[in-house]
Amino acid sequence: MPTARPERSMTDAPALSIVVPAYNEQEVLPEFHRRLAGALEGIGIAWEVVYVNDGSRDTTLDVMLGLQRDDPRAAVVNLSRNFGKEIALTAGLDHARGTEAIVVIDADLQDPPEVIPALVAAWREGFDVVYAQRNTREGETWVKKATAAGFYRVMQRLGGKVKLPPDTGDFRLMSRRATDALLKLREQHRFMKGLFAWIGFPSKAVRYDRAPRAAGETKWNYWKLWNFSLEGITSFTVAPLKVATYFGFGIAVLASCYLVFIVTGTLFRGNPVAGYPSLLAVTLFLGGVQMMMLGIIGEYLGRIFNETKQRPLYFTERYSPSRISAGAVET
Ligand code: UDP
Ligand code: MG
Repeated sequence: MPTARPERSMTDAPALSIVVPAYNEQEVLPEFHRRLAGALEGIGIAWEVVYVNDGSRDTTLDVMLGLQRDDPRAAVVNLSRNFGKEIALTAGLDHARGTEAIVVIDADLQDPPEVIPALVAAWREGFDVVYAQRNTREGETWVKKATAAGFYRVMQRLGGKVKLPPDTGDFRLMSRRATDALLKLREQHRFMKGLFAWIGFPSKAVRYDRAPRAAGETKWNYWKLWNFSLEGITSFTVAPLKVATYFGFGIAVLASCYLVFIVTGTLFRGNPVAGYPSLLAVTLFLGGVQMMMLGIIGEYLGRIFNETKQRPLYFTERYSPSRISAGAVET
C-alpha cells in the first residue's frame, strides 16, 4: 500500500531503537522507563526509546514528554487518535531511527525489558529476527490460555507456508533490514504476528517468563480476542472461502442419495406424503449454512473494501525525536 512514511534522519542516529506503543499507560510508564534504562545499562551501543502515544485518554502524553525532557534517549510520537496497537506499533517502527536493530515491547511491563540484552546477544550471533517466547502465562485464566493455544493450532493448520511461532507476542528484536521489509507491508488490517512471520529472515527464539500486568488494565476482552483471531485468519488464509465448495459438494452427494431413496420409496410403496418435517429441517439447515457462507465472503469483502480505500495508516499529531547520537555509547 503506498502510504507515505516519515523521513527518518539516519545521519548520526543511534544503533538500537526500542519501540513502545502505549494507550492509557500513565501509571506504568515511569517505572517502565526506569527498568528499561536499567536493563540496557552497559549494553555497549547507543539506543533510543520511541514512545508512541496511541490517543490515550489519560495523561500518558504528558508523562512521555516528561520522560523525554529528562532523558535525551526518549522520542515521542503522538498519534492523532487511538488507532489500536498494531498501527501504533507501525507508527513507532516508521519513526525509529535505529540503524542496526529495533526492539518492539509493550509498555505494561508484561514483556520484561531485562530480556532485551538476550535478544541483542542473539542478534549479534547473526539472526535478523529474535523473538521472545513465553514460558508461562502467569496471571492469566485457564480459559485465556486454552483459547490462545487453540488459536495457534488453527493458525498453524491454515497458515500454509507461513508458520507462526507459538507463545510469541510482538515482543521481539528485528534487524534494520527485517524492519524495512516489514514496513513495506502497508496493509490496513495489520495482523502483526502474521506479518512478522511473513517477512521471513533467519530467526531465533529466546525464552522468558511473562509477568502479569504491572498496573492499569488489559484492553483485551473475549469479543476483541475473537475479532483478533478472525483478523488473523482472514488476513492470512482464504481457506474459509473454500469451506463452501466442499460443504456444498458434500450436501449435494447426500441429497442425491436421499433423492434416490425417496423416488424408489414412492415408486414401490406409494406416496404417503410424509415429507414435511424433513423438508423443513433441510431447508432451515441449508438456509443457515448459506447465511454463514455469505458472512464469510462478507468478512473478506469488507477487508478488500478497506484496503481499496488506500488510506494512510495513521496521522501523527506530533513527533519529537530523541536527542541521542550514534557516538553516545551507553556506560
Ligand atoms: N496498546 C496501544 N493501543 C491500543 C491498545 C493497546 O498502543 O489501542 C498498547 C498498550 O499500551 C500496551 C500494548 O499495546 O503497551 C499491549 O496492550 P495490552 O497490555 O492491553 O494487551 P495484552 O498484553 O493484554 O495483550
Ligand atoms: Mg499487556
